Amino acid sequence: ININSSNMMALAPNNSNKRETVCIFGTGDFGRALGHKMIQCGYPVVYGSRSTQTSNLIPKDAEVLSHAEAAQKSAIIIIAIQRQHYNFLTPLAEILRGKVVVDISNNLKLNQYPESNAEYLAQLLPGARVVKAFNTVSAWALQSGALDASRQVFVCGDDMEAKQMVMNIVRALGLTPLDQGSLLAAQEIENYPLQLFPMWKFPIFLSLGLAAFFFFYCLALDVIYTYIYENNNFSFFIAITIPNRVCPVMALLLLGLVYLPGVLAAIIQLYRGTKYRRFPDWLDKWMLCRKQLGLIALAFASLHAVFTLVSPIRSFVKWRTSKAIISQALNNKTEPLDITNAWLSDSYLALGILGFFFFVLVGITSLPSVSNSVNWREFRFVQSKLGYVTLILCTAHTLIYGGKWFLSPSAYKWYLPNIYMLSLVVPCTVLVVKFVLIFPCVDKPLTQIRQGWERNPKYSE
Ligand code: NAP
Repeated sequence: ININSSNMMALAPNNSNKRETVCIFGTGDFGRALGHKMIQCGYPVVYGSRSTQTSNLIPKDAEVLSHAEAAQKSAIIIIAIQRQHYNFLTPLAEILRGKVVVDISNNLKLNQYPESNAEYLAQLLPGARVVKAFNTVSAWALQSGALDASRQVFVCGDDMEAKQMVMNIVRALGLTPLDQGSLLAAQEIENYPLQLFPMWKFPIFLSLGLAAFFFFYCLALDVIYTYIYENNNFSFFIAITIPNRVCPVMALLLLGLVYLPGVLAAIIQLYRGTKYRRFPDWLDKWMLCRKQLGLIALAFASLHAVFTLVSPIRSFVKWRTSKAIISQALNNKTEPLDITNAWLSDSYLALGILGFFFFVLVGITSLPSVSNSVNWREFRFVQSKLGYVTLILCTAHTLIYGGKWFLSPSAYKWYLPNIYMLSLVVPCTVLVVKFVLIFPCVDKPLTQIRQGWERNPKYSE
């Protein structure tokens, strides 16, 4: 009866201004941070600890008692103790019967134990109403009140009423509870804080690998080759020249890789004549990390823009320019302006500037704050149409930059193509296939397939 009446109070917090006492087991970092926050929000806090001596670290308005005494003072007990020490709770099972016991623990590794910590706690205390909560909030965020993302508190548990009580506390602390369902969800919730940018892993490793490959490729052709055959020491190219070759190549290649899975998916759907069969796993995964690939591509493009801007103040460039002027003066002749070259160079720069502008625009719309404020159709329009405009502009920028050397044998040191030629393979393939895909005779069946039409329906009427 006692327990029920105290639960009723928590369920109807507006009936009285006085908040219900909360008990926290463990006076460690998290227990103290949570207790401090709760006291600030008006909850009387009582700690259950192995030692009842208070220290000045413990919030001064809190009481520190033995575990058994503390548990009797409250209907909610928060266990701020590592899982490996949970067995000390077994003798307290009777006292904790019927109480709301909150598991906030995390593990050090993904799927470290066969069952989640919360389920393990429920097994140890069969009479308790176990709720999982707070594990994704760090002690630091609780104390500093910073970090928007960590305002979300995932809550799960089998007892609806117990879950509501915990969610009320979460709300009172100024945090946002997210009901994740039954205690079965605890495993997943415990894995959240252990995940380190899951969607970023593949794009980051891929771009690091490719960037390293292109860097050494350039090093071989621009520094080692010139050293061996022309006896020039261009080792300082490592600082700006080579990075400024690798960055645009990476930006264009990764941008191509953002749009390649889309055209591959279209080809697969056309070939199969249905959209009701799953794509291969690798294609699914690839599609899911397109945003990350695009943002990394944008980072490389931005670096390329900055590297290009510093070009006039580089001593190598100044030396090369003055050498050309002096040699003209010594030979007493001036070279006439080459209009074709001027056109090529200006249009190559203009395409680069426009390409970068659209690149940034597409990047901005992928920010959650922006993408949340446009509807699905607008988002698709920007990401797909403007994305293709970016791809076309950047590919044209690269083609005009290097096109004139495609047929010149001197561009192939050691019979190897220059890296900007390599970077064109993926974007050109994507653009050519996309061009074919927009022809009405291909586009029509594809649109029909995407609306659910099947060439060989499995379930015919
Ligand atoms: P901690 O600083 O090591 O504190 C753990 C507390 O557990 C100790 O202060 C101690 O309190 C008690 N304890 C230790 N050994 C015990 C034993 N054998 N028997 C009974 N009680 C024992 O750890 P913490 O950082 O506060 O983390 C506590 C729990 O919160 C962990 O499960 C962790 O995964 C979770 N968590 C922590 C954070 C964070 O940012 N720190 C964030 C989310 C979740 P007494 O001396 O008072 O008995």
